[in-house]
Amino acid sequence: MSTICIYCTQSTTGDLTRAHVFPEALGNRDLILPAGTVCEKCNQYAGHELESALVGHPSIAMALHFWGVRGKQGRIRQQLGTVVSQPSERGTVSMKFSIAAPKLSFHADGLVEMQATATTPTDFRLDRFRRALHYLGMNVVAFLEGGASVLEPKYDPVRNYVRRPRNRREAWIYSEDSPPVKHIPLVLDANVLETPRGKIVVLQLFQTVYGVDLLNSGDLRAAATQPDLRIVDEDVRELPPVIIHVKAQPKSPPAA
Ligand SMILES: [Zn+2]
Repeated sequence: MSTICIYCTQSTTGDLTRAHVFPEALGNRDLILPAGTVCEKCNQYAGHELESALVGHPSIAMALHFWGVRGKQGRIRQQLGTVVSQPSERGTVSMKFSIAAPKLSFHADGLVEMQATATTPTDFRLDRFRRALHYLGMNVVAFLEGGASVLEPKYDPVRNYVRRPRNRREAWIYSEDSPPVKHIPLVLDANVLETPRGKIVVLQLFQTVYGVDLLNSGDLRAAATQPDLRIVDEDVRELPPVIIHVKAQPKSPPAA
């Protein structure tokens, strides 16, 4: 059992905190790190500083509303970021949020594709969202490879970035892939990729797949070759437009 916190490297002897790999706020109840991996202070810090940026992201907020994922206190949250849920008596949930520039395209194979851009909350903290993704990445590696593995010195920059960033402008890149979906999947998942210099964690948060490189090696940018995959560079200060991308086969073909 690890007795050093992977974020602040202080002793966790006697600290019974068990941090969630993915936050409870995203609906994870079962994936939990062993006691002693993350100290109580760092766990609380992540809860306050980082998780709010995750649940306020328009595409994550939309997924949480869609599935009626309850918050830590077991309550349905009516508003997450700019997305408001409106429960109806018939058991359906409708969501209200502003979108810009909806675009429909009709493909030769009969599929209909809709792209719309969700409005981002004006107070959205992209700096915290970036760090939150790296926090999830660290948790995943600690879960899969053990807390001791992420105590290696090569993880010092990322643990400091998550817990003690130099300032609000410190920003590490991440990648984002929003393939067109027929519906929003209820999925929190992760994969770890070893690259020549990097340690890339691929995180699926519902319909969006994010990538972070815990070693900030440059390999994430090199790996991002697919056309739909977007790199959110260090100098980007505002959340890039969140595109709602739905592609489905209509029941009857659209009128010509
Ligand atoms: Zn700590």
